[in-house]
Amino acid sequence: LKINFTPIKLKGDGLIGMVAVLEDVTEQEKLDRQRKDFVANVSHELRTPLTTIKSYIEALEDGAVEEPELATRFLKVARQEADRMTRLIQDLLQLSRLDAQKSKFYKKPLVLTEILEETMDRFRFQCQQKQISLTLYVHGSLPRVYADPDKLMQVLDNLVSNAIKYTPEGGSVAVVAKRKPDGMVEVGVADTGIGIPKQDLGRIFERFYRVDKARSRSLGGTGLGLAIAQEIVHAHEGEIAIDSVYQKGTVVTFTLPPVSRR
Ligand code: ADP
Repeated sequence: LKINFTPIKLKGDGLIGMVAVLEDVTEQEKLDRQRKDFVANVSHELRTPLTTIKSYIEALEDGAVEEPELATRFLKVARQEADRMTRLIQDLLQLSRLDAQKSKFYKKPLVLTEILEETMDRFRFQCQQKQISLTLYVHGSLPRVYADPDKLMQVLDNLVSNAIKYTPEGGSVAVVAKRKPDGMVEVGVADTGIGIPKQDLGRIFERFYRVDKARSRSLGGTGLGLAIAQEIVHAHEGEIAIDSVYQKGTVVTFTLPPVSRR
């Protein structure tokens, strides 16, 4: 709590009173801290790949360039790290547009199953390579949803790519869509992967929060995928939630409003 006193004086007279203004700064301080943490996180996340790139360049300068096999490997790592920086910057720009509400949403009635099938097609190859089964289940007939197709695809891409990323070879990923009793349409992305410990679940939608930073980075993650998905779902007046059993699997569900509601 911040208290500000302002003395009140009339012309020529002495002090005749005080005005005390009480201001609740806890919310302000929380926002300030979050902003500082965020800047520190961004700096750190950008510095890490740069340090790696630099050390590989130095190794090449110190002679690795003479050994073609080694040189090829080092260059590949450097390019992967540069790619990850690019993704990170794209994610940051998108979050900042969403924060500033400068992201335009082109919502329209959509047949959800078409979007879900397109998403499945985009990941089919990746799943085959990792021997992960990818299945779509649609329960009953779904009403059309009122959503921005590109943004919705991005939510699905983020969730399905996480499911594949954090599921070992031979596992399975399922996308399930159904209508809830309250009329909202629910989409769930479930996997049989590494899971998330209970104590981390509450913070998992925070920007840059990861259970295992090294693992996420080595798999090319930016730590922003779930935060972006949450912003987009909220902009559609939907909810997003995660449930997981450590070393068993994870399910992320989100809801979208049906067209009939509007
Ligand atoms: P990242 O780029 O690190 O994957 P996300 O914001 O998409 O960032 O996810 C944040 C963290 O949540 C991940 O680093 C991982 O620890 C955890 N996570 C997300 N999805 C899953 C999943 N399907 N299975 C296990 N862990 C997950």
